[in-house]
Amino acid sequence: MARAPKVLPGPAKTKGFVQAAKGVHVYVGGNGATNFGLILTKEKPVIVDNDIRVRKEFLAGAHKLARKPVGLVLNTHHNFDHTSDNGYYHERGAVSFGVDLITQEMEREEKAGIWVKQMAGRGPDVTPFIGKLHIAPPQVTFEEMITIRYGGRTFQMIYIDHCHTLGDSVVWMPEERILFTGDLVDNRTLPVNRLGNFANWIAAMDILDMFPAKRLVPGHGPLPSQPKAAIKEGREYLLHLRDRTQAALRKAKTPEKAAPLVQMPEYQRWYRYGNVGVNALKMAQELKGKKK
Ligand SMILES: [Zn+2]
Repeated sequence: MARAPKVLPGPAKTKGFVQAAKGVHVYVGGNGATNFGLILTKEKPVIVDNDIRVRKEFLAGAHKLARKPVGLVLNTHHNFDHTSDNGYYHERGAVSFGVDLITQEMEREEKAGIWVKQMAGRGPDVTPFIGKLHIAPPQVTFEEMITIRYGGRTFQMIYIDHCHTLGDSVVWMPEERILFTGDLVDNRTLPVNRLGNFANWIAAMDILDMFPAKRLVPGHGPLPSQPKAAIKEGREYLLHLRDRTQAALRKAKTPEKAAPLVQMPEYQRWYRYGNVGVNALKMAQELKGKKK
């Protein structure tokens, strides 16, 4: 019988602002909650992602570091916990950027009436916003890539593929060599894949690995010290999930019966360990060639 795999180390318990490089700050959500970037420039600061539910905590720290209102908002993907405060910044004169699929996906969720509601029970309470908060899609959109030169810095937003969501992009700062991966990498935090595609996601890890990054800022989980190690860990999780789900499908035939057979005990110290079952079910459906 195969020995049980060794339990992997858990994430560092960081929460709040940490510095990734000179003038490049990251608000780490803690406990696997969403991370946000705050980049100081010669003009106003630039932020990567936002969430209305943590506006207070984020801005309290941001004001101390920046002392100016936000100039640009860069969205890595459409999820509520990365874009729900776009409107607040728009009203205060900021300009937002994102891949055009973000707009499409936000509009779909708004139309279906799930934009806010689907967050119920996940993280900070959304009840006060139901029926009150509407989508505020990025004002400047692009298909493949956009280069933004602002305040003495360069930001490249690059569409990767349909992985975690339909429209996943990264923010690359080529001069500082910092890569904001959005939820394509969740450091020592199990990913969420309600709308995604695992096969594309596995392939995307090789694309991320090609960036000569000095620092990697994950969508969730603490900042890793080694970008390549974080990408490798993320890829290995996806490969283990695929291989074990494949094996379970050989025994159980249907995704619903196979998913509960998938065990990932070595990840028990990672945040969102409870996602093992839902991820196995999504993987099983994908391997069986069914739509979500
Ligand atoms: Zn997220």
